[in-house]
Amino acid sequence: MNTARKLLGAGIWVTMTFFVGVAFLCGYIVPISTVSAMGYVHDTAPDKYNSYLSPLLGIGCYLEYDLSPMDAARVTAAGQKPSTVANAIAATKWIQRTYGVNIDSGILLSIYQYETGSGSNVGSCDGIKKAKENKALNPEVEEKAAKWLLAHWKKHGVINQYIKSDYSGYTGGCSAGEIGGGQFIPSEAFHRCNDGLSKSGDRTLRSCDFWDEKTTMHAIAHHLYVIGYRAGQSDQKKVEKLYGWNHNQDYRKRLVSRSKRINNAVGRTDVITYQPIENLEYGISPQEDARVTAIIVLDTIGLLPEGSTWLEAPLASENITVVTQDWKEDLGNGLWHPAIDYGCLTGATIMAVGPGQVVKISSRGDFGKHVWIQHATNVFTVSAHLSDISVVEGQKVQQGQKIGECGSTGNSTGPHCHFGVYKKGPNEFHYRNDALNPHLYLGQCGPPPDETG
Ligand SMILES: [Zn+2]
Repeated sequence: MNTARKLLGAGIWVTMTFFVGVAFLCGYIVPISTVSAMGYVHDTAPDKYNSYLSPLLGIGCYLEYDLSPMDAARVTAAGQKPSTVANAIAATKWIQRTYGVNIDSGILLSIYQYETGSGSNVGSCDGIKKAKENKALNPEVEEKAAKWLLAHWKKHGVINQYIKSDYSGYTGGCSAGEIGGGQFIPSEAFHRCNDGLSKSGDRTLRSCDFWDEKTTMHAIAHHLYVIGYRAGQSDQKKVEKLYGWNHNQDYRKRLVSRSKRINNAVGRTDVITYQPIENLEYGISPQEDARVTAIIVLDTIGLLPEGSTWLEAPLASENITVVTQDWKEDLGNGLWHPAIDYGCLTGATIMAVGPGQVVKISSRGDFGKHVWIQHATNVFTVSAHLSDISVVEGQKVQQGQKIGECGSTGNSTGPHCHFGVYKKGPNEFHYRNDALNPHLYLGQCGPPPDETG
């Protein structure tokens, strides 16, 4: 096993396993020596720290796709890389699940291989400078988005051959400020970071590393969905739709004919099985409770692995019209708002933000129709002002499962979801004193800062 090899490989990791075990068992009591040992590794070998702890805590890179041995052999014989094909299939299944439309994995692989393989955009350039010079678009927006991405990558420690180690700019492989394996323009990539990818349920995609194969596949799939490409269309229609990808007709024709060859070679998408190598266990088991406690401990002492997040927003991002009131927003009367208000259309799906158990549903009070979910001993969430509730008390829920619909019941002036995180449950919580900052539990991708650079 991988884990065993890692443990044998370096003594420090054995020590860390023990110490994390201590954190699991003792809740918030963590020995000082543990903190300094972990802090040392965190500072001196951040990559190892993140890649070791994230899977252990069930956050980060735990979701990997793979093919069955038989399918892998067939795909290999067809000249394709099984892990790449598995990522493409996972991305098409995500689009199917989210939007109810089909995109064949052949076109994803075709685009991916054309854009990152031999690559027509060879040579090097300065991404931000090129983004600014992209007169066909809005240069101001492109420059701002490019700078935001750079700041984001810096924050998440993303360095590769295209991003300089001093983060002074990204270079190479870009003809017009295009970035990553899918050749996205910065503003589009920015949107993928903020909404396209965060909907996938795959938390690692929040790192927004556009050279990461899994991220790229999901980004390509989402863009194909946006420009109206569908698996069942005629070749001519597909070439037409791909105008939204590239304006060169010959290139688009090549993409489509190549996609047909790949589809034929690797078999119809839906006969290939794919499965995540590891599965999340849902429900509040003692292990889950200990895991969450460990996450909170590490978060408190500033040692949570980079890019970690374990709750998803209660609404898919395309269903959020605007955040009408943010956490701790000043209410003008000496009070502050202890939650996030997501503006939404009545009837929009409200989801469970993480695995847990429904501990209370109610239609009364300022919250109107609302649902309380317990995720761990001291972590509860409440989604309020719903128009409809689709769960019952005591029900176990999975992350992303529908729990109700957006509405404006209770003390509300318009349809929105008041989303709060609490350290105490519905029968003992104090509206403001027990509220936790939801942003600490949600994703890392935020809006672009006003001041960049
Ligand atoms: Zn509110």
